[in-house]
Order: sequence, then C-alpha cells, then structure tokens
Amino acid sequence: MALYSHKSIKSQVSSVMKKEEKNNLMEKIISLCKRRGFIFPGSEIYGGLANSWDYGPLGVELKNNIKREWWRRFVHARTDMVGIDSALVMNPKVWEASGHLENFSDPLVECKKCHSRFRADQISEKCENCGGKEFTPASQFNLMFKTFIGPAEEKANVAYFRPETAQGMFVNFKQVLETSRRRLPFGIAQIGKAFRNEITPGNFIFRTREFEQMEIEYFIKESEWEKYFDHWLNEMRNWLKDLGVRKWHEAEIPDGERAHYSKRTIDIEYDFPFGKKELYGLAYRTDFDLKNHSEKSGQDLRYTDPETGEKFLPHVIEPTWGVDRSVLVAMLEAYREEEAPTAEEGESEVRVVMAFPKWLAPIKIAILPLSKKENLSNKAKELYQDLAKDFVCEYDETQSIGKRYRRQDEIGTPYCVTVDFESLEDNAVTVRDRDTMKQERVKISELKAYLLDKLA
Ligand code: ATP
Repeated sequence: MALYSHKSIKSQVSSVMKKEEKNNLMEKIISLCKRRGFIFPGSEIYGGLANSWDYGPLGVELKNNIKREWWRRFVHARTDMVGIDSALVMNPKVWEASGHLENFSDPLVECKKCHSRFRADQISEKCENCGGKEFTPASQFNLMFKTFIGPAEEKANVAYFRPETAQGMFVNFKQVLETSRRRLPFGIAQIGKAFRNEITPGNFIFRTREFEQMEIEYFIKESEWEKYFDHWLNEMRNWLKDLGVRKWHEAEIPDGERAHYSKRTIDIEYDFPFGKKELYGLAYRTDFDLKNHSEKSGQDLRYTDPETGEKFLPHVIEPTWGVDRSVLVAMLEAYREEEAPTAEEGESEVRVVMAFPKWLAPIKIAILPLSKKENLSNKAKELYQDLAKDFVCEYDETQSIGKRYRRQDEIGTPYCVTVDFESLEDNAVTVRDRDTMKQERVKISELKAYLLDKLA
C-alpha cells in the first residue's frame, strides 16, 4: 500500500483528529448541508427514504462544478477523448456478457438474534443493531437493481438498472470508433447514474443505492498498458490535488482480491471520519469486456491498425470516479472553524468557513447592500443583475452585514461585494476576500475585470 501526500499538509483536519471529533465532523457537515441547502434527506415530507439524499440549490451547483471540470479536463482539453451518454436500462445480455449477473455480488450475513443483514466484509465482531454475536454463514447477494420493461411483470421482461456506466462505453465502442474516426490510443468518457442494491448503504452520501459515476475507458495496444496505467494514475493524482484533497492512499489490490476482469487495480482511498475507504479506482481491464461482447453479440469489435492492417481487440485502462464521494471529500477537506474578530473592538467568535478551491465554490460572488434603503438596494440589484451574466451570484439584504458575511463563509463564497452609502458618491464597492477577510475598495467600472482575474 502506497501513501501519497501532497505538500501543504498544515492544519490537517482529518488525520490528527480523535475519533469523536471525526464523528463530530460528519455530523457538522450533514447538518450544514441540510441547513444551507446543499443536501437534504430524500422524500423527507413522507418521513424520508432510508439512505436516499437530494441535492439542494447549493449542492447541485457544487456537484455540477465537479462534473463540468471533469468533462472539460478529460474530454474537451484532450485530443484523444470523446464523450457519450448511454441508457440506464440496457439489454440484459449486456450484463450476462460483462459478468455482472453471475459475479456482481457481495457476501451477506444475517444476525441470528435480530435478523439485521450486513455485508460480511464490513461487520465488526458484534451486530451493530442489537449487539448479537452470532451470524448466519455468508451467502452471495447480487447487487443488480431489477425492474420490468413494459406492463407485464414476467421473467421475459426482466431488466436491470446499470450498476456502472462502463458497459455503455464498451457496447458503443464500434459506433464511436467509426463515427469519431479515432486511432488508438483513445478514450470514451461518460458521467451518469448507477444503481446498486447495496446491503448496507450508509455514511451519508458515501454509499447509496443510487449514485453518480464519472468513468473513462481508455483503449490501447496491449503492449502499452503499463505506460497508460501510470499516465492515468498521475491524472487522478492531479485531479485530487485540484479538488483540495491533501492526503490519500494508493492501495495496490493483490492477486485474488481484484475484480474478475482486472489484471491490476489501485484503489484510491481516503481517511473518511468513519474509516479508510475507497474514493476512486483505477483498473487494467485487459480486453475482457470487448472480448465477451464480441462473443455474446456475434459482432466483430476488433480495431484495424491503419498502418499494418492488423486486426485486434484493444485493451483497456479504466479510471473511475464517484461523483458523490467527490462531493463528500470536497466538503470534508474544505470545512474549517476559525477564530474571527467581530464588529466589537477586541471581541472574536468562531466562524465556519468552507474553504473550497474557488472553481468549486457553488456561489462565486455575494452582493450585499449595507442597508435596505431604496437607493442602496437599487444600486446593489443593478450590480447583481450585471454580475449574474458572468458569475454565479447571490443577492442578500437581510440581517446585519456581519451575519451575512458569516453565512457566505459557511457556504464557501470566495467574494462578497458590499454596496454602501459611499458607493452612491464614488461609484466604488468593497470586496471582501473569504479566506483573508481583507477588504478592498474597487471601482464599479473595474469590478468585473477584477473579479474575473481573482476567480481565474
Ligand atoms: P466499494 O468497495 O466501496 O463498494 P466498489 O469497489 O464496488 O466500491 P467500483 O465498482 O470501483 O466501487 O465503483 C467505482 C466508484 O463508484 C467507486 O470508487 C466509488 O467512488 C463509486 N461508488 C461505488 N459504489 C457506490 C455507492 N454505493 N455509493 C456511492 N458511490 C459509489
């Protein structure tokens, strides 16, 4: 197991914290998410639905920032990548060929006392529910989410929600190759929902039955697999740093423990408050998928080398990212509690700051008139409408300016623009920086260029 750590490790939140503080951190994040509109418990007005979560106005911005940046970086900014968006429900034969119907299962055990069910590889000595110490022997439980196509709930109509986006890329490999006229090496990317009937979902958005993935299938010649495995490992490291992750682990999965299709796997693990767990994965899938789909579909999925005319099945490197686990990790890394001065001379209070990297912040700029007086709020609203054309902005005129700053700190807004009475005279505003809390006077005519530069 390799440990990788990024340079700025000062003020490490998670690794030095005691267990209680870590649990506390999860509770604080969950409560902040609900209070500020990042993530709500799913179907809450009906008493909720266990382990389902809905992204609110700020959460969807944060999540979209992650997906947008991933797509920009790995699809648009590269000449060797294209994207697709495939169906959630595919022909069941896809899952026969991929091995999911046979192999996609976890070991399930049942507490003999209270009949609670657990994943055998995740239980401690005792039942989490009743403390019972005896469990049934493990049986294999398939995680595929079953449904029926059409009005008749018959065996012939059984279908499955996809448990990963990956198979969409393999099934469309030939069409993508022909229409995009790519040469090896090249990759297909996809972002989308996946469904798994997890035995023990939990830990907020870490493990749910419905979640989002960002996956790449990178097609190569067999002889080059090590080179591209390393390439993608580096890309994943760069991504982690840019997401604000200061420390993670790279776990080499040994023979016998890898998924059935993989010749080499590295799990990117993170020290979550509830333990060290998988965040992302990187696998060398060989030609397993294309080979099986060729055999099961009867289609020739081989690639023809344009120089030699040789026909062969490409091999595949697969880096995979969970969107929801990315959101969780970004929130855990960004959370800070700091002493900050109040308006009273010599007084201070604790301020909560989500110190997101700027590109990740759901709201980039808050426009705050110092008072609700009409002439001030008119000027501030005008400014808001103008800035909203270029930035994700929020307008807030309720409560004291101090409270409004705290609220913006708590949702991670990098800049607050305050319109005060002087602004009416000098056509300038005060811009406050989230991290330093320093304030600067900027002319309205130069404000847009100033903010574009700061947020670049
Ligand atoms: P785990 O061991 O945690 O069950 P896995 O090895 O089954 O994960 P993969 O099949 O490699 O996960 O899925 C790719 C990525 O999708 C994971 O690295 C993770 O980020 C995300 N993911 C997988 N299962 C879930 C889930 N139930 N909820 C949220 N994200 C998930």
